[in-house]
Amino acid sequence: MIDAQHSCDVLIIGAGGAGLRAAIAVAETDPKLKVGVISKVYPMRSHTVSAEGGAAAVIKSDDSLDHHAYDTISGGDWMSDQDAVEAFVNEAPKEMIRLEHWGCPWSRQDDGHIAVRPFGGMKIERTWFAADKTGFHMLHALFQTTLKYDQIQRFDEWFVTKLLEDDGRCRGAVAIEMVTGKVHEITAKAVIVCTGGSGKVFPYTTNANIKTGDGMALAYRAGVALKDMEFVQYHPTGLPFTGILITEAARAEGGYLLNKDGYRYLQDYDLGQPQTKPVLRSMELGPRDRLSQAFVQEQEKGRTIEGPYGQYVHLDIRHLGEKIIQSKLPFVRELCLKYENIDPIKEMIPVRPVVHYMMGGIHTNINGETSLKGLYAAGETACVSINGANRLGSNSLTELLVFGNRAGKSAAEFALGQNGTGYAVSSQASDEAIRIDREFLRKTGGKEKIADLRKEMHACMEEGAGIYRTEALLKKSQEKVMELQERFKNLRIDDRSKTFNTELVGAFELSYLLDIAETIVQCALHRKESRGSHQRKDFPKRDDENFLAHSLAYRKENGIPEIKYTPVSITRWPPGERIYGR
Ligand SMILES: Cc1cc2nc3c(=O)[nH]c(=O)nc-3n(C[C@H](O)[C@H](O)[C@H](O)COP(=O)(O)OP(=O)(O)OC[C@H]3O[C@@H](n4cnc5c(N)ncnc54)[C@H](O)[C@@H]3O)c2cc1C
Repeated sequence: MIDAQHSCDVLIIGAGGAGLRAAIAVAETDPKLKVGVISKVYPMRSHTVSAEGGAAAVIKSDDSLDHHAYDTISGGDWMSDQDAVEAFVNEAPKEMIRLEHWGCPWSRQDDGHIAVRPFGGMKIERTWFAADKTGFHMLHALFQTTLKYDQIQRFDEWFVTKLLEDDGRCRGAVAIEMVTGKVHEITAKAVIVCTGGSGKVFPYTTNANIKTGDGMALAYRAGVALKDMEFVQYHPTGLPFTGILITEAARAEGGYLLNKDGYRYLQDYDLGQPQTKPVLRSMELGPRDRLSQAFVQEQEKGRTIEGPYGQYVHLDIRHLGEKIIQSKLPFVRELCLKYENIDPIKEMIPVRPVVHYMMGGIHTNINGETSLKGLYAAGETACVSINGANRLGSNSLTELLVFGNRAGKSAAEFALGQNGTGYAVSSQASDEAIRIDREFLRKTGGKEKIADLRKEMHACMEEGAGIYRTEALLKKSQEKVMELQERFKNLRIDDRSKTFNTELVGAFELSYLLDIAETIVQCALHRKESRGSHQRKDFPKRDDENFLAHSLAYRKENGIPEIKYTPVSITRWPPGERIYGR
C-alpha cells in the first residue's frame, strides 16, 4: 500500500541543470503554481556538477548565430532538427547572461569581457566557462535561485519507479523515499522528466553511477518513443579504469595523443578537418567521434598499449610545462594524481575512449512536449533534437538552460489550463507499491545477482554496440540483452531493509538500463548506414536517401522494440559534407 499522498501542479523528476532551470521557469510563469522537484540524490550531486569544460553561446563580435547553428548541424551530421537548433542558438546567449544575473561567475578577460575557449568542432571560440568547474557553478547558481521560490517543494533522495497515467494523460509518479523506504504517490497536472543520460549501459564511461537512464525507461514504459538511441557519444580521453574524463581543455591547451611508438597518430586519419597548416596543432581537437574511431583503428593495427583495463594510448601534456598545467589544468593534474598515481607534469596520461553522452532520448518537440499529454522532458534525457548524430562539446550545458526553460514554460501553461486534482490513479500507485514488495523485497527463490547481470550487459554492449558495429555483432548483443531481460525476472535481493536500500535502487536502475540497452541495439541494427557516432563497418557510408530520419523506438512486450522513422527538420542548411575547421 501507498504510505502517503502528495499533489502539486507541475512535478519535475530530476534536479540537475535541466530540472532546476525548468522549476524556475514554472515558478516564474505563475506564482500560484505549486512545483515539486524529486531527485534521487541531493540536487548538487546531480551529474551536471561534474562538467568542467564549458557552455556554448555566441558572444564574440566575429561570431554569429548562423555560425553556431551551422557548426551544430554539420557536427551532428545533419541529423539535428534545424528549427530546434535555430531556437537554441538564438536563446543561448540570453540564458547565459540570465545565469550570470543569478550568480554564475563566468570567467572573464582582463578587459572585463566574457572569456571564451575553443572546443572541438566549433570553428569560432564560443565556449563560456567558470574556471574548470563550469557545471558546479552553473548548478549552484540554479540551485540557489530555486531557493527563492516558496512554491518549489523538494523531495531529495526520493527514487521514482513509475509514471502515473489516467485517461491518456500523465498524472504524476510513484517514488520511494529512500531514507524511510516509504512509497509515495505524487499527483500532478504536468510532469517534466529531467533525469539525465544513461552512460552506465556501457562499462567504461565518464558518467556518474547515477546515470542509469531512469526517466528514458519510465517514459518508454509509458508508451512514449525513445528517439535516435543508436547515437552514443564516446569521449576520446577517459582514464582507463574509472572512465574519469580528462577534459578536452587538455588538448585545447596543446596536449598530444601518442600511440605506443610515441607517434601522433591522428595525422594518419581523416578527421573531417581541412588539412591547413599547421596541421599538427589542430588535429587533437577534431570531433570526438572521429578521434574515438581513430583509436580503434590504431588498436587494430596493434599500435596501442596493453594495460590491465584494456588498450590505451597516451595523452602527453608534459611539454606545456608546470606553470601552464598548474594554472590552466589544475583539475586534470589532481585527477591524475588521485586516480592514476601519476603526475602529468612529468609523466604521460593513459587514456582511452569512454562513453560520454547520449544523443538520443525521450522524443519531444521543441517545447519539450511528448506524445503523452501532460508529460514533458528536457536535458540529456530528452531528444529535441539539437545534437543529431554527434553532439558538439559544450552544447549540452546550454541545452539544459534553453530547453529546461521551454519545457518548464509549456508544462506551466498546460497545468494552468487543467482543473481539479482528484485523478483516478491511486489504485495504480497502490499496485506499484505491491509490485515493489512482490518483485523485490519479499520475493523468494530468485537466483540472479545484480552485479552479474550488469557485468554481462556491459560486456555485450561494448562488444556489439560500441564505436564500430556490424549486423552480426549487434544481433549477438540483441540476443544477450533479451536473455538478460529474462534472467532479470529471477533476480535476488539480499537486503530487505527499508532504510537506504541501495540494493533495491540498484535493481530498479539495472531494469532501466536493460530497457535502454534494448533500444540502442535495435535502433543500431535498423540504421544501415554510418553517420556521426553510429559507425557500421558493413555500411560505411552515410545514406541520406534512406536514413536522413530520426529513429523512434516503441516498447513491445517481446523485448524487441518496434522502430519507426520521422523526418529530420531541415530549414536553411541542406545536407552537405561534414567538415570541421578551426
Ligand atoms: C564528466 C562530464 C563532463 C561534462 N562536461 C561537459 C561540458 O563541459 N560541457 C557540456 O556542455 N556538457 C558536458 N557534459 C554533459 C552534461 O554535463 C550533461 O549532459 C548534463 O549536465 C545533464 O544534465 P541533466 O540536467 O539533463 O541531468 P543530470 O545533471 O544528470 O541530473 C539528473 C537528475 O535526475 C535525477 N534522477 C535520475 N533518475 C531519477 C529517479 N529514478 N528518481 C528521482 N530522480 C532521478 C538525479 O537525481 C539528478 O538530479 C559532461 C558530462 C560529464 C559526465
